[in-house]
Amino acid sequence: MLMMSLVIAPVRILDLTVVQLQEFMKFLGEPTSSADQILKYIYRECAADFEEMTGLSPSLRQKLKEHASIGCLEQLEEKVSSDAQTRKVLFGLADNNTVESTLMYFRNPRTGRERRTVCVSSQVGCSVGCRFCATGQQGFVRNLSMGEIIHQILFFMRRFRGETTEPVKGKNQAWLTNVVLMGMGEPLANYDNVCQAIAMLNSPKGMGLGSHQVTLSTAGLVPQIRQIAGEGLHFQLAVSLHAASDKLRSRLVPINRKYPLEQLIFACKDYINRTRRNIFIEYALFDGVNDSTKDADELVRLLDGLKCSINLILGNPIPSQDFQPASLETAFTFQKKLIASGIRTMLRVSRGADIEAGCGQLRSRWLAKQSQP
Ligand code: SF4
Repeated sequence: MLMMSLVIAPVRILDLTVVQLQEFMKFLGEPTSSADQILKYIYRECAADFEEMTGLSPSLRQKLKEHASIGCLEQLEEKVSSDAQTRKVLFGLADNNTVESTLMYFRNPRTGRERRTVCVSSQVGCSVGCRFCATGQQGFVRNLSMGEIIHQILFFMRRFRGETTEPVKGKNQAWLTNVVLMGMGEPLANYDNVCQAIAMLNSPKGMGLGSHQVTLSTAGLVPQIRQIAGEGLHFQLAVSLHAASDKLRSRLVPINRKYPLEQLIFACKDYINRTRRNIFIEYALFDGVNDSTKDADELVRLLDGLKCSINLILGNPIPSQDFQPASLETAFTFQKKLIASGIRTMLRVSRGADIEAGCGQLRSRWLAKQSQP
């Protein structure tokens, strides 16, 4: 199958698993060990061009130039927040679709160490249709390939390579600390490509990121939560809950009508039992919607017995849907209730509000601009 496609189109290296790249080497008449060298150049050295792979023989580099390409994204727009701690990039894909990714810097006030987190998209648009999400209002266009997911991360790693003053010893950790699949799209609805991308993030031949460095956020696709528990991948699961009753959650996150809370919490418990990893619950607080003390009490009851931590987020305003973030004061009260009941709870203020860093907002504006006469 791979060889057939070679005849008509160049192979995109970022779309290949380790085994597929080894097969490609065989097809080119090269030893399979060349695959390891290429992976090292791409994932450790962040090479963007075959010419940078100077350790490969000139003939292999020539073959690669003739039969392959590395990446597939083109930067269309970049916005940097006023505090320079958040950058959002809009990428153009080969078929003229667009996706967004966000880079966030966090400095630990105690240790002074910097965390660099890249939030990547897994789909163009999204079919889940969460009411408070700009991507959800765009509808679903298509899944991203494994390479299109990974290229978003490599784009920022190449940036770090240019920026860092630290000595680089072929270790990605010098440039990137965390990857979150929390951008446009529902990752578990693009199951195979997302699993392959995470496998490459985990692989010692790829980026070598551990489970505490990769987070996958889902709106709650119950069958896929059960399935991915058995894949042997290393990542943290985050479930976007946003409500503790079926009535409210079905309004905010329509997939709840298909997979109601009882099924979702049961699948989460099953995931925790099988992977021996706790999960994160994401809860965006919206003013007058899901931020009352009654909502907090309901949440405590729902999560009773679930090994989890909660991330409370002050949601981004979506003018078309009349959603406004809860006030900080309300959020603190909500957090205190959860902590008092013994649930580890962090409150996160959303980043980059001045650069449309909410999921899908930059693309929404881009689409509106493109449709103007
Ligand atoms: S919040 Fe996530 S799952 Fe919901 S519509 Fe937006 S992208 Fe899709």
